[in-house]
Amino acid sequence: MKLQYLGTAAAEGIPAVFCECENCKKSRAAGGKNIRTRSQALIDDRLLIDFPADTYMHFLTYDFPLAKIKSCLITHSHTDHLYPEEMLMRKNGFSHINEKSPLTFYSDESGFNSISKFKAERGISDDDVLVNRIKLYETFEVEEYKITALRAAHDVYSTPVVYLIEKDGKTVFYSNDTSEYPDESQEYLKRLQKPIDLISLDCTEACNDITYVGHMSLDRCIALRSRLVEIGAADSNTVFVLNHFSHNGKSVVYDEFVKIAEGYGFKVSFDGMVIEI
Ligand SMILES: [Zn+2]
Ligand SMILES: [Zn+2]
Ligand SMILES: [Zn+2]
Repeated sequence: MKLQYLGTAAAEGIPAVFCECENCKKSRAAGGKNIRTRSQALIDDRLLIDFPADTYMHFLTYDFPLAKIKSCLITHSHTDHLYPEEMLMRKNGFSHINEKSPLTFYSDESGFNSISKFKAERGISDDDVLVNRIKLYETFEVEEYKITALRAAHDVYSTPVVYLIEKDGKTVFYSNDTSEYPDESQEYLKRLQKPIDLISLDCTEACNDITYVGHMSLDRCIALRSRLVEIGAADSNTVFVLNHFSHNGKSVVYDEFVKIAEGYGFKVSFDGMVIEI
């Protein structure tokens, strides 16, 4: 499986919209991997994860076949992960798609409701966009992938989930906009009795010392990795990637943070990063 990070920032991006803070100034001046857009990922050039407003910019930058993509997993309904307005552009006239089939979104309640509402309000047909409501902890198939959604620890009104994505015996755990998983999700991971190949963690706060629920920081990612190894969900072969960064994080500027995180055995995501497992 190939995982490509298309966007790796929290809601405001890095540099953040309207911001004049030092992290944003430094990131802007350094450019390259220090620039982060809103979160989105792509598996094997065919399975999207999340649909932020920056989808268009990702399509321009990474040149993937967006018109041909049939499936998109939504983690939760915050606007940096779900921007229904762009779905209008799949209607005839706004786009001309050869051999058109619908783009199907998979989401828990909040995202499902907002996509359904938008479709009804804007007259978007099932030929353009479909939306399926997922059931937590029940594996479902999307194209050649086996997908399982686990509850995340994040704003409950956004019905947040993290996804296990499996194909050909390899598993990716795409897990951001969450802090340490709720008990039932940890239990699910424990019951797998199989180390995951790639685990992508939320590190929104970089080197900050934080205690709130919803996001994580480097020290909490270190502790969570130990916990995942302890319950058998990861081992020494598991690749851990830190992802989803905010400009408010201490030492969050990529060039600075990558040196710190690599010292603890983590990879650090950047926009465009590709990992094959
Ligand atoms: Zn987010
Ligand atoms: Zn800033
Ligand atoms: Zn969120």
